[in-house]
Amino acid sequence: MFDKLDQLLNTSFNEMVEIRRYLHQYPELSFQEVETPKYISNYHKQLGHDVREGVGGRGVVATLKGGKPGPTIALRADFDALPIQEENDVPYKSKVKGVMHACGHDGHTAQLLVLAKALNQLKNDLSGSIVFIHQHAEEYAPGGAKPMIEDGCLDGVDVIFGTHLWATEPLGKIQYTTGPIMAAADRFEILIKGKGGHGAQPHYTKDSILLGAQIVQSLQHIVSRRVDPMDSVVLSFGAFEAKNAFNVIADSARLEGTVRTFSEEVQNNVIKEMEQIVTGIASSFGADAKLNYYKGYPALINHPNEGEFVKEVASTTPGIEEVELMRPQMGGEDFSYYLQNVKGAFFFTGAKDPNVDEAYPHHHPRFNIDERSMLLAAKTLGRLVLSTSIK
Ligand code: MN
Repeated sequence: MFDKLDQLLNTSFNEMVEIRRYLHQYPELSFQEVETPKYISNYHKQLGHDVREGVGGRGVVATLKGGKPGPTIALRADFDALPIQEENDVPYKSKVKGVMHACGHDGHTAQLLVLAKALNQLKNDLSGSIVFIHQHAEEYAPGGAKPMIEDGCLDGVDVIFGTHLWATEPLGKIQYTTGPIMAAADRFEILIKGKGGHGAQPHYTKDSILLGAQIVQSLQHIVSRRVDPMDSVVLSFGAFEAKNAFNVIADSARLEGTVRTFSEEVQNNVIKEMEQIVTGIASSFGADAKLNYYKGYPALINHPNEGEFVKEVASTTPGIEEVELMRPQMGGEDFSYYLQNVKGAFFFTGAKDPNVDEAYPHHHPRFNIDERSMLLAAKTLGRLVLSTSIK
């Protein structure tokens, strides 16, 4: 069955490329997807799959029933794009101004659709069912995964797998892990209220910029002095707003940033420490500062057995030359919600663009992939399904 799957996928590679390039030209932003889900559901309907549209908002869930009883295996691909103006000079360049598939979700969708078609042709030999979860809005919290799960996309699912095409890793490489793989990605905002005044008479004021600067510095001590060195934390500021004339002391200021962690315990500890430092420094200034903390996607943590299973299966997939136990990344992914509900694993499929010496990172206006990576991702996902089905 494995050879047959590989053959079916090999002969459909051109179709995969066509689908990816079509989607690439018509990208849609998170929570604004209209044509992409329609395209996906039509494709599955033509294959005769049970299709549910509008799942959790804009998601599409298609089910393929095998000829024999067995487990229900879900595969997930996201399909949203980003607010980026494409700078690649390719025939399939985005036709939508300011919107671009700059994270490879076009490829995720193309590879899953064509894999669905190939598995459909093997359905009489399949035990159990395959659920294809096409998810909207991965790029923008609160994301599409959570509402899709609440709308039942995981009902009856025994195990789930997903992959991300990864442009900074070479073609032929799979990265897996048996624990944390991506971080919890949170946003915070600090609102500072001091007392403005004349720049020449600082003693009559409570300088919000000076207070903000102290907060920026002091919060870094959480990472170096309040967290176990063996735990990972990132605390980064992205914004510091306080705009006044050159001789005016700021009345108020606003800071914004992100915190990344791998465990809830560390995360909650960081929040507690942040609150203490922010209010402590503010009160030493006789001013006010308020921390607003917004939890984003939780950490993406693979289930150990399924992570190990990805390694075993990927090692036997034709075209995969290297299977690496990866270090977790500090990026976020809402695949984490699926793994909080059912067993499964997420992995990275190397996809470095062969036309550049150094790959442009994800979310860059010149991001691109080696399209052959889609074939390798589909083969690996397909083998995970077949191996689970016959287990
Ligand atoms: Mn992505």
